[in-house]
Amino acid sequence: MLINGELVESASGQRYDVINPATEEPIGSVPQATTADAQAAIDAASVAFRQWRNTDPWERARRLRRVSILIAERTDEIAELITEEIGKPIAESKGEVHATSEVFDWYADEARRIYGTIIPARNGNVRHQVTFEPVGVVAAFTAWNFPILLMARKIAPAVAAGCTIVCRPSEEAPGATLAIAKCCMEAGLPDGVVNVVTGMPQLVTDCVMADERVRKISFTGSVPVGKHLVRQSAETIKRVTMELGGHAPVIVHPDADVEMAARACMQAKFRNAGQVCASPTRFYVHETVLDAFLQAARDTVTEMRLGNGLDPEVDMGPLVNSRRLDEVSALVERSLEEGADLICGGKQPETIGSGYFYEPTIIAHAKDDSSLMTEEPFGPIAAVSSFKDFDEVIERANALEFGLCAYTFTQSLELAHKTSSALEAGVVGVNTMIASSAETPFGGTKQSGWGREGSFLGIEEYLNAKYVHLALV
Ligand code: NAD
Repeated sequence: MLINGELVESASGQRYDVINPATEEPIGSVPQATTADAQAAIDAASVAFRQWRNTDPWERARRLRRVSILIAERTDEIAELITEEIGKPIAESKGEVHATSEVFDWYADEARRIYGTIIPARNGNVRHQVTFEPVGVVAAFTAWNFPILLMARKIAPAVAAGCTIVCRPSEEAPGATLAIAKCCMEAGLPDGVVNVVTGMPQLVTDCVMADERVRKISFTGSVPVGKHLVRQSAETIKRVTMELGGHAPVIVHPDADVEMAARACMQAKFRNAGQVCASPTRFYVHETVLDAFLQAARDTVTEMRLGNGLDPEVDMGPLVNSRRLDEVSALVERSLEEGADLICGGKQPETIGSGYFYEPTIIAHAKDDSSLMTEEPFGPIAAVSSFKDFDEVIERANALEFGLCAYTFTQSLELAHKTSSALEAGVVGVNTMIASSAETPFGGTKQSGWGREGSFLGIEEYLNAKYVHLALV
């Protein structure tokens, strides 16, 4: 773990094994944090905050830029670690490292652009000045599916704003997060500015949530855990950013380039074996083009190669753990029992011996109130159904409590505008499945969360406005 600039063991000396989901074998072990370790990390972050908040923004920018460069230089090594920890294909892991480096680069610039405002006063003897100050010590908890990118989207804006941070990565992928924490340390971020504690959630998070010195939490994970943390945050009135689950609709209008749409949808769907919050999950295809869409989708999927993500020829790796595999298998079984049709996949591959693999699966005609269409299917399942008209499909797409990402395919500018404004989501892709980048805002509406990461908005989550009313006497 990284606490106060030092790589340390847990206070109890205990460690736990991290398992490679492609082989079911341990790849190493990390410390199992105790409450005392979480406390030590908060102590370190609190002390470091006194200095870091007053560090010149140009200096903060310089050091963040160095973090970005170091991460980029270590692309191969970090990418390999991501693939071993969570199973995604190596090309996807390299893409994640690249995106992570960009996030640090972006927020290096943002550190110098924390502008204030002068509000015109009602009379000449008064000045109204608004400035922005760092919120203080931040805690960050993340899911495993983008182990370094999700954490970077918290560390980089927090540190750019002048905050210090205590990070708890997921238990599945602590090594990759530690690798970027080491880059932070070696890039010259002072001791205590970035701290990482590893281990099981409850011990660390309960301690962090109860501590008054932690002024803000930023969480990426599921809706139920998000709700739990929001409840806990009430006790000490912490500021909160919640990046939670999704169940993204895709509307394919009859005028779309259907083959292109189907290919793009399936490639996005099975990225990281479908374990992506922004993953398209509910495909509403106009009834006149449904058959063509299903044919092109099936053709794309049957070409996909499953296997250990370290093999560069592999398109889709395993699910992250046996719990996820059980949940995905159960959801497919339930949706077939509930009357849907299996187009392809729907089982574990027979040719791969070990690992938590599941075939890329397409299911058609699931009913709107079925499990598959209402529960987030965090895995390689595409649910395709048809629609007749615009109002009907918008109502169905917006029917859930999720509101993270949504997508549409059309060649009509009018339909593109109408659909993107009618969809209840924080992010809408039109003729593209790309949902996030360092310079654009990402985040949800409804129960998919609060707050935004990325872009000029991301840093605001770590700043408090201060208004100074200056009377010139
Ligand atoms: P999860 O909520 O089970 O776990 C997320 C993190 O919270 C993990 O590190 C876990 O250890 C920790 N955690 C679990 N129980 C906790 C508790 N009681 N108190 C504090 N922390 C606890 O989610 P997951 O299965 O790891 O990840 C998948 C979910 O994350 C999906 O719902 C997905 O949509 C969501 N997600 C959202 C985004 C986004 O940006 N909106 C990005 C990635 C993943």
